[in-house]
Amino acid sequence: MKVVVDKDKCTGCGKCREMCPKGFKIWNIGPNKKAKASNLRFCHVCTICAGVCPTKAIQVIRDREEDEKEGTNEKNL
Ligand code: SF4
Ligand code: SF4
Repeated sequence: MKVVVDKDKCTGCGKCREMCPKGFKIWNIGPNKKAKASNLRFCHVCTICAGVCPTKAIQVIRDREEDEKEGTNEKNL
């Protein structure tokens, strides 16, 4: 999965970091006042960040492969 920030839209407000359950583990607001998500192994893919971003700068993209794998797992349960 990926968490993509549109740098043109990001204002560096920090809402994503504030509201993300893993906040400071994932989100960095750089000196350029642009948010960047890293350490995505901590990410729950909850999409809260995308929902709270006032400028809709965040896209949480799930990999098709992961979805397919999960689908398979569900069938196997
Ligand atoms: S909430 Fe949106 S605008 Fe604010 S810092 Fe995060 S990505 Fe940037
Ligand atoms: S999807 Fe959830 S856990 Fe992942 S970065 Fe966004 S708010 Fe944080």
